[in-house]
Amino acid sequence: MRVLVLGGTGEARRLAELLAGRPDTDAVVSLAGRTRAPAPLPLPTRIGGFGGAAGLAGYLRTAKVEALVDATHPFAERISANAVEAAAAAGVPLAVLARPAWAPVAGDRWTEVDDLTAAAAALGSDPRRVLLTVGRIGLAAFRAAPWHAYLVRTIDDPGDLGLPDARLLLDRPPFDADAEAGLMRRERVEVLVTKNSGGPSTYGKIEAARALGLPVVVVRPPMRGGAAVFDDPEGVVGWLDGLHSASPGPAGAERGV
Ligand code: NAP
Repeated sequence: MRVLVLGGTGEARRLAELLAGRPDTDAVVSLAGRTRAPAPLPLPTRIGGFGGAAGLAGYLRTAKVEALVDATHPFAERISANAVEAAAAAGVPLAVLARPAWAPVAGDRWTEVDDLTAAAAALGSDPRRVLLTVGRIGLAAFRAAPWHAYLVRTIDDPGDLGLPDARLLLDRPPFDADAEAGLMRRERVEVLVTKNSGGPSTYGKIEAARALGLPVVVVRPPMRGGAAVFDDPEGVVGWLDGLHSASPGPAGAERGV
């Protein structure tokens, strides 16, 4: 069975590890190419955009893909919308591997907002020391609040931050709670800004902020659609098994099922 996994997440990596050992599965992982040196995956990898939903539908047809898995980040809205449209256009079944969002627990001091513009506004008018962990794309929203002192953590260098008081910290997940608390103490962080990305690999900052009693501005994840939604890679493998056993054989691939 030919499978295309839209990746760029730890979940996509775990799914790739599960699929790599399966002789009946011919899977490829697709990355956007945002991270300059992505860690190698145990499956063949293609890198770069498809050219919108139409381009992705064309790829699905040309490569005779029989199942599409959207395992992209909860905030990667465009590719997820393209996946829904392209899967429908090409007649390819689609599964979404969606991490559950984090939920606040006792001791958390969250202000939840809908987007990065609202996150910048939620920092308020008094200058604060901000740990900004929203990724490289979208930092521009914080130019609307230039009076804060930002410690900006990203995986790759975002170039000119356009913020008068900002320092860059290049690092990549996973991050554990003790190290995050150490960073927050050392840098005298007063408020954390984060997307609600879900999953364990970046949850340490939430635990650290809770332990230190720090407020957190949390950007809510956008809504996601899709035919079959799973919150773990094993669920996706079960879904693929179901498709495989229902498939009429190689002729099915020709029909684009
Ligand atoms: P996006 O806004 O939804 O997508 C923008 C464009 O990038 C898409 O239209 C598509 O180009 C291309 N693209 C995105 N993901 C792709 C993939 N897996 N394979 C091939 N092309 C892809 O996405 P984004 O927020 O920039 O995120 C890009 C990648 O980084 C995603 O794979 C995501 O999983 C990962 N990521 C995102 C975040 C985040 O906070 N947004 C965090 C961690 C990781 P075409 O239209 O030309 O096909």
